[in-house]
Amino acid sequence: MNHLADHAASAGTPGTLQRWLTGPRVAGLPVPTELPPPALSFEFFPPRTEALEQQLWSCVRRLEPLAPRFVSVTYGAGGTTQERTHATLSRLVRETSLTPAAHLTCVGASQGEVDDVARRYWADGVRHIVALRGDAPAGEEGYVPHPQGYAYAADLVAGLKRVADFEISVAAYPETHPTASSAQHDLDNLKRKIDAGATRAITQYFFDTEVFLRFLDRCHAAGITVPIVPGILPVSNFNQVRKFSAMCGASVPDWMGRLFEGLDDDPETRRMVAAALAAEQVRLLQANGVDEFHFYTLNRADLTYAISHILGARPKAAPAA
Ligand SMILES: Cc1cc2nc3c(=O)[nH]c(=O)nc-3n(C[C@H](O)[C@H](O)[C@H](O)COP(=O)(O)OP(=O)(O)OC[C@H]3O[C@@H](n4cnc5c(N)ncnc54)[C@H](O)[C@@H]3O)c2cc1C
Repeated sequence: MNHLADHAASAGTPGTLQRWLTGPRVAGLPVPTELPPPALSFEFFPPRTEALEQQLWSCVRRLEPLAPRFVSVTYGAGGTTQERTHATLSRLVRETSLTPAAHLTCVGASQGEVDDVARRYWADGVRHIVALRGDAPAGEEGYVPHPQGYAYAADLVAGLKRVADFEISVAAYPETHPTASSAQHDLDNLKRKIDAGATRAITQYFFDTEVFLRFLDRCHAAGITVPIVPGILPVSNFNQVRKFSAMCGASVPDWMGRLFEGLDDDPETRRMVAAALAAEQVRLLQANGVDEFHFYTLNRADLTYAISHILGARPKAAPAA
């Protein structure tokens, strides 16, 4: 044991420092058989056109046999996709074996209106909500709570628990929410959301694995014991992701720019690079004990399917009709 590892052991924090210094790194493929297959969840967005609708459902059908723990459907800024989100969730309940989760935000609606949306979900068989604050609509500067609304996600979680006994997931930010006054304030906020009744946090995507693992250590130190599930974004359009990341506070390491260098007009190679990149990211997380993953699918199945497969997920036979 080297002196750093000695220090880790004497610090009495097994699983944190020790993991960094002496813990497993990635073993060669295949994934060691003693690792259980990971728990997966997949995120979709509600389609706007007939063509996107078809794309979504072929994605859903491709991923369904992987038997994810749940699949979630996003809610457009300020409830702009309310009907489409609802229609997508209802169809998931009616036509698939999947467990759906509805994203729901506080923006631009009174508490009563938000509660009504939640009641409709419950009535339609949706039992899991991803509770979010949401962002100010495009063109408006800064988030201002609706005068009769839920101001923040923690308030929404408490309100939803009064509506029905939903399972509730919330958002977490390994690199800190871009408008948080401090990283500590943001962590305290996450704790409030859990204390209000959430039982899982799903993270904003990130590309530097160490950022997530250090965040996990901070969550544990803050007494947050619910699963913190890494949000994985397989990057097939690097330029788009770079622009979007600047807005949502996810950093894009320089080495990623170099990986995608010269591939702007070569989507095929970009996708292969994206698969290799995401596979390395999830395997590094898995080697550090992470066994749940949430994929931002962008309604495309192939990268998510391939990466889940590498992690050890295999299709389950459909139940007999
Ligand atoms: C997994 C995931 C899924 C998402 N899905 C969607 C979606 O479907 N639709 C959508 O519109 N957006 C979605 N978002 C984006 C999200 O709405 C934005 O990131 C939003 O800015 C913050 O939402 P939140 O729920 O994290 O907010 P909160 O947890 O309420 O926090 C927002 C900010 O306010 C601060 N804060 C909290 N409470 C207080 C307080 N009392 N006083 C002062 N400051 C406070 C926090 O520190 C943080 O900086 C998603 C994000 C993630 C990570």
